[in-house]
Amino acid sequence: MARVVRMPILEAFERLGTRLQRAARRVRAVPVEVPEVAEVAEIEAPTAQLVARFTETSKITGALAAIAGYHALLGWLFGIDLLRTPSTTVPMMTANEAVIALLYGAALYLPRAPPTPTWAGLRPLAGIAAALGTFLALLSVLEHVAGASLGLEAWVGNPTTGPSMPVFSTVAYLSIGAGILLLHEERRLVAAQVFGTVAAGLSLLAIACYVYGAPPFAGEMPLYTAIATLLASAGVVFFHSDRGLMAKVSSNSFGGVMARRILPATLLIPVVLGWVQVQGLRAGLYGFETGLAFLAVANVAVFVTVVWGSVVSLYRMDTKRRRAERELQETAAKLARSNADLEQFAYVASHDLKEPLRAISGSVQVLQGRLQPQMEPELEELIHHTVDGANRMQTLIDDLLTYSRLTTREEPLEPTDMGGVLREAMANLEVALRESRAVVTNDALPVVRADRTQMVQVLQNLLANALKYRSERTPKIHVGAEDAGPEWIVSVRDNGIGIAPQYADRIFKIFQRLHTRKDYPGTGIGLAVCKKVVERHGGRIWVESEPEEGSTFFFALPK
Ligand code: ADP
Repeated sequence: MARVVRMPILEAFERLGTRLQRAARRVRAVPVEVPEVAEVAEIEAPTAQLVARFTETSKITGALAAIAGYHALLGWLFGIDLLRTPSTTVPMMTANEAVIALLYGAALYLPRAPPTPTWAGLRPLAGIAAALGTFLALLSVLEHVAGASLGLEAWVGNPTTGPSMPVFSTVAYLSIGAGILLLHEERRLVAAQVFGTVAAGLSLLAIACYVYGAPPFAGEMPLYTAIATLLASAGVVFFHSDRGLMAKVSSNSFGGVMARRILPATLLIPVVLGWVQVQGLRAGLYGFETGLAFLAVANVAVFVTVVWGSVVSLYRMDTKRRRAERELQETAAKLARSNADLEQFAYVASHDLKEPLRAISGSVQVLQGRLQPQMEPELEELIHHTVDGANRMQTLIDDLLTYSRLTTREEPLEPTDMGGVLREAMANLEVALRESRAVVTNDALPVVRADRTQMVQVLQNLLANALKYRSERTPKIHVGAEDAGPEWIVSVRDNGIGIAPQYADRIFKIFQRLHTRKDYPGTGIGLAVCKKVVERHGGRIWVESEPEEGSTFFFALPK
């Protein structure tokens, strides 16, 4: 007889082993390589470094503008010509222009000055400096309108009869002043940068006239002023280089790369070529028309080179990006396949294991029955352990099967009354609810788009846990619902043992339990099932809890 019982058990164990192996073999080994993201990162690299460099540029150009103004002012105070103009044939930077350059430079430098106590004390003066500089520029407008002098230069002993600075300087300074004042208004930032660019254009024009040796003209900016305004306007444009128009220039998009390549070339090359042409003309190497033809063709040649260089690097970037995208897509597809295979494995394994397991526990129970009358206590305990183990494995397999069926047996989402879902879940838990004398209350529950069977599973698991993890108190459970705009938030609140905050995420992972089987039976799959279902519905699930006081599980479902 012992032989008769022994054989089915051994066979069942063997079958258990081979089925497990077979199921494992069915899972294809998919080598999932880590995506080649380095190149993507290179393309998408955050532009923080670039922004930092531009911001530093703004600070430095601001400081240089202030220094230029300061030196010209010293020139006026001590009568040193070289500090006011590079040559006697070029107009001097006036004292008023120098003061404004100093004020604007300070306004641009101070917000970024080192964090030492001295500089920190001076920082609040930045706004005053900008406002004062703009006020002086406005006074100059007044002088131009009135065609008279307000005597702004008198304090350095410059007895002016007309305006304290030429038209070009007035317009450039007014632009820069407006730019600095608008820099701190987020919504006017683009306007500030446009003002900065206009001033830079005027300054460049003045500088180009000097470089080409053009005869002086009315309203012309002194060279030192043009340099100071060019520096200050760069300070304005680069001040917030991560925002407004500059956000595009400093971005690592194709547009940003193009802007950084082409803009400097567009600014510099025509000016340099123009200078070369003027030198050639002066040396009598060619006539005006021939010079113009050379200039035009040279411009074309240079720009074709610049544009071609940009086209080549754009092409390279694009190829890299496409390749990276393709690799990512392939990796995603591989991951999806491997995920599906794993789910299939869980399903097959749990499904195939059921039958031999049933044979084991059945045979052991037969064995127990036959040996019962004269069984030694030791043997009885052994058999008891075996039956217990087999039963636990049975529950585990059932739970695993439920988990893997979530994706293999999904139903379409349909309008589902959560009130009805709650009633069904409570009906399934009737015995446990009665035995624990739990009091369950609920809000009016909404109709949501869901898979009804799976929603019953979620509420049932949460209610069952609220009962299982109860404290000494009579369980009080409240099922709530809140309309949170684009989603419904359903909650299950209990007055049970609660969960320490550090486990709030862990408990939703499969097989993760916070208690031993002796304290609370379970497999650690219930909440993983809830998470998978809720996520399949496009929602989220989380817990808020106070140990000893109780827990509230929330899940949000999109409307
Ligand atoms: P199981 O209940 O089978 O252990 P679950 O996935 O349902 O598996 O729960 C995982 C763990 O989360 C549980 O072991 C328990 O520690 C904790 N938990 C779940 N619900 C509650 C609750 N309402 N109160 C306190 N702890 C809970």
